[in-house]
Amino acid sequence: MNIGVYVCECGINIAATVDVGKVVEEAKSLPNVVISRLNKYTCSDPGQESIKKDIIDFNLDRVVVASCSPRMHESTFRSVVEETGVNPYCFEMVNIREHVSWVHSNKEKATLKAIDLVAGAVARAAFLEPLERKEVDVIPKTLVVGGGIAGIQSALEIANNGFQVYLVESSPSLGGRMAQLDKTFPTLDCSACILTPKMVDVARHPKIELLTYSEVEEVGGYIGNFNVKVKKKPRYVDIEKCVGCGLCAEACRLKGKVLNEFDENLSKRSAIYVPFPQAVPLKYTIDPERCNMLKFGKCGSELLCVAACERDAIDFNQEEEIIELDVGTIVVATGFDSFDPSTEKKYGYGESPNVITGMEFERIANAAGPTEGHLEINGKEPKKIVFIQCVGSRDKDGNEYCSRVCCMYTAKQAHMVRDKIPDSEIFVYYTDIRAFGKGFEEFYNRVQNENVIYLRRELNDFIQIVHNGSAVMVKAEGHPDIAADLVVLATGLVPRADSKDFAKTLNISQSADGFFLEAHPKLRPLDTFTDGIFIAGCCQSPKDIPDAVAQASGAAVKATIPLAQGKVVIEAISAVINEDLCSGCRICEKLCAFSALEFDSENKIMKVNDVVCKGCGSCAAACPTGAISMNHFSNKQVIAQIGGILEKRRSLIV
Ligand SMILES: Cc1cc2nc3c(=O)[nH]c(=O)nc-3n(C[C@H](O)[C@H](O)[C@H](O)COP(=O)(O)OP(=O)(O)OC[C@H]3O[C@@H](n4cnc5c(N)ncnc54)[C@H](O)[C@@H]3O)c2cc1C
Repeated sequence: MNIGVYVCECGINIAATVDVGKVVEEAKSLPNVVISRLNKYTCSDPGQESIKKDIIDFNLDRVVVASCSPRMHESTFRSVVEETGVNPYCFEMVNIREHVSWVHSNKEKATLKAIDLVAGAVARAAFLEPLERKEVDVIPKTLVVGGGIAGIQSALEIANNGFQVYLVESSPSLGGRMAQLDKTFPTLDCSACILTPKMVDVARHPKIELLTYSEVEEVGGYIGNFNVKVKKKPRYVDIEKCVGCGLCAEACRLKGKVLNEFDENLSKRSAIYVPFPQAVPLKYTIDPERCNMLKFGKCGSELLCVAACERDAIDFNQEEEIIELDVGTIVVATGFDSFDPSTEKKYGYGESPNVITGMEFERIANAAGPTEGHLEINGKEPKKIVFIQCVGSRDKDGNEYCSRVCCMYTAKQAHMVRDKIPDSEIFVYYTDIRAFGKGFEEFYNRVQNENVIYLRRELNDFIQIVHNGSAVMVKAEGHPDIAADLVVLATGLVPRADSKDFAKTLNISQSADGFFLEAHPKLRPLDTFTDGIFIAGCCQSPKDIPDAVAQASGAAVKATIPLAQGKVVIEAISAVINEDLCSGCRICEKLCAFSALEFDSENKIMKVNDVVCKGCGSCAAACPTGAISMNHFSNKQVIAQIGGILEKRRSLIV
């Protein structure tokens, strides 16, 4: 056996804290090592070339690189050895950057640790075995979950690339939050005017199958071959027959009695409804929580909606349907919830109509909203308006992150107030203005010049809103009290209430703040840790429409690559079952997060689906009979690694 060792300085990332030369020298004395070298950057072309040359010159059959995290460069070096005829699984990587130089300051001790780790890797390398990767066919279809602007954009991009898309949206219409907005910063485009054409494009696209009022229930399989179960909720309206004329809603006995969630509960609708006039599809839905017929089995002496419908489209017998889809990749674009300010007493939200959220402002300002676009509270035009920023964001005791859109949507809304009520007094309480996007600073300056008074406060400064008859008093530390007719809370963006459950369904991770976690914050911002599942829009983190759209286009490209290639290579590291030792106790089955283990009831033993298996090792660790081993982390290999470390340490002490 001939092992080559390559120790990297990574510029000064490693060399500043580790005596790299000493590590190289120590490696020379390890068993089977025939060459040990130092590189400034092992990942650079010269670094890679030196490995290739040594493989030939020294007839290397194992290679160890001590450098950065395998997450960064393991695939680079595996390719290097593979190109020179060595099996990629005969390569071993030691992380002496994240595990050593970046976390230690004592050079002597850090160097000793690096020497130990390299010794362990060399000992393990001697026991590495060649493995073969598998290739599987890819189903040339994608599932997009969420029909907000991010999901719409992804679906259109993938479909325009010629691949079949299933777009699943849980509400009755496409559009997401953008459909609720009036104008959009910084250009002040009418939100519906730029969104509606895209929704129509989706509905018309021959490559997109739109499943609205539907939810993803189960996701199984793996990249290239996901099996998805989608629950199609009953609308109690036959959408083939419904033409969206609205006669049913006009006739409904509960007309004007059901809170309209699209208008943030500021208006009322019927029990049969479309969320908004430009809804896609423009098909009516019966609200099962409110419809008398669905709740009590009768509605007065006559079903008025049924009588009004000229197309005979209402069908109270409709039932939930489960649709099974097979897709190669998945894009998740499930968006966000708004922070609920009633959880913080100081904002006085929910106690009077004079305190509203940013989203409620959007609806009030909208021509199709509860006041047909007239800015009025309790039928009265407000003259003194106060905006409060960072509500539910940048809070050390709550959501620590910045919601990224509130500074700009407040500026937009202040501008809209000035436009609609020219003689109003407008104040904005802010902490820092984050006007980082294209045209944002210019827009903010423009709003300031429109006689909008910006008042600075520290994040933790006292603020309280006190109700005072038909007005509210805003008490803010360091500022005189303001008696306002209207207070608008710039509420932040939070993960959806169901995001924890949905992350489990998809088998993807969440970051500490609850948004879906990307595989790498800088280099793989659209991937998840589950191959073949990508994220876009506000489900990943708060962002504005341009960023959501850009990310959605990126996720679409990523989701399309495997479809275009037609095949994906599956990692060879997986669990292996020794059938003679397996007792069929099935403990491993429950522990497998990837559903990769199946019970063979005939032979009463477990079987591994090695295409689905991610090689995480949970099953092997739990197996009471030791029947499961990992084919790249066998006991032999791990024990050799520990032995290598101990042996080296002993030799250094002696
Ligand atoms: C008050 C306010 C004002 C704003 N103003 C602006 C502005 O002027 N300019 C700007 O650029 N940005 C603005 N934004 C930000 C903008 O709203 C977002 O950038 C945008 O909506 C993000 O789109 P999205 O598709 O990621 O998420 P969403 O709009 O939230 O869409 C997600 C969609 O997924 C669906 N969904 C969720 N879960 C599931 C599931 N499990 N299955 C199926 N479907 C699901 C939802 O029903 C929804 O339709 C504003 C935000 C707020 C709160």
